[in-house]
Amino acid sequence: MSIPEPAPPGWDEAYARGAAPWDIGRPQAAFVRLADSGLLRGRVLDSGCGTGEHALLAAARGADAVGIDISPLAIERARGKAADRGLTARFEVGDVLSLGQLGMTFDTVIDSGVFHVFDDDARARYVTSLASALRSGGTCYLMCFSDRQPGDSGPRRVRQDELRAAFSDGWTVASIAGEMFELNPGLGITTARAWLATIRRL
Ligand code: SAH
Repeated sequence: MSIPEPAPPGWDEAYARGAAPWDIGRPQAAFVRLADSGLLRGRVLDSGCGTGEHALLAAARGADAVGIDISPLAIERARGKAADRGLTARFEVGDVLSLGQLGMTFDTVIDSGVFHVFDDDARARYVTSLASALRSGGTCYLMCFSDRQPGDSGPRRVRQDELRAAFSDGWTVASIAGEMFELNPGLGITTARAWLATIRRL
């Protein structure tokens, strides 16, 4: 899978600084609840996996998990965690805006804090890319910062209607629920209001 040249700056640096706000060393509670309900199943893609906690969560529950991230440092750390924990998950450096290049299709996609990093143009490309990687009838679980989160530190806020508009063609938005992101203290907050969207590929 090719990544843009040069690789977008920032992500590797964020991981090199350590304790990036989202990189809490465990999966987000919202995704643990999905796993507990048996929903992270089959071939699972952790899109923009960072240091791999959600792919590893799925792998620990028996899924065939793949994590893709543009940061080589994050992928190196994810592979290290898999080895340390004795879990089998595949981690690759790659661009989630070009998932078709993977030549793989998945039953389930996890997006924890990735959709909200993209600007409008990249957002549209991302949705097309996800459509190329998720099988018909497959499910994407997407958690993003919500417009109900006050202040402006951290990523762009997303409204429910933006989620519905982004996934209006070829998808069904089955539900959007209020959730919380757990964060390291770097942003001055340790939780943030989020939306957890359950989105099915038609
Ligand atoms: N899902 C992880 C990381 C969220 S932070 C977690 O929950 O901890 C957003 C992640 O998206 C970062 O790891 C960043 O490196 C990755 N990312 C940003 N743009 C990307 C792209 N175009 N392709 C792949 N990964 C990307």
